[in-house]
Amino acid sequence: MRINLTELKRTSDKAMTYRFHEPCQPLTLGADLLTIEDGLNVCLNIGLVNDTLIVNGTLQTRIKVCCARCLEDFLYPVNIAIEDEWIIADNLPEHMKEAPDAYLDDIYILDQEDPNVTERVMEHLIVNLPMRFICADVCRGLCPQCGNNLNKSPCTCQRQAADPRLAALAQWKSNTVE
Ligand SMILES: [Zn+2]
Ligand SMILES: [Zn+2]
Repeated sequence: MRINLTELKRTSDKAMTYRFHEPCQPLTLGADLLTIEDGLNVCLNIGLVNDTLIVNGTLQTRIKVCCARCLEDFLYPVNIAIEDEWIIADNLPEHMKEAPDAYLDDIYILDQEDPNVTERVMEHLIVNLPMRFICADVCRGLCPQCGNNLNKSPCTCQRQAADPRLAALAQWKSNTVE
């Protein structure tokens, strides 16, 4: 994904909309390798204000992931907003040249020779992914005793009170019969 800076500077209102559809390598996240199913669909509205690119846009795709509850694979839909500021490297203010790393979370430094923003878009994707993927709010997960997928069929295992305090209460009640 490259931003044509010459073209952007030439427009009368210094603003352009860029649309990208790019295939994407699988994403390594911890121990998992996630397939980006639809590639990256990115729309960026970019305005140039005093050498700073003000970016507003969206990223859409689907990622093949494994549900943390039922362990089934499913396609996790991604639809995130991208709000960002990019500074062209040649125009970096002096104080930022000294310690640019401190600014990198908020401001991305764009290489004028190679204004490729794929890496920055991937950063937005990664910080917006959840810690755990759950296929659906109503996912019942696996039976902790027999491992049966409870979304597909019930099993005959006895459910035990998950909360030990409730188990203690049940015990206390059974001891206090008059
Ligand atoms: Zn699930
Ligand atoms: Zn079971």
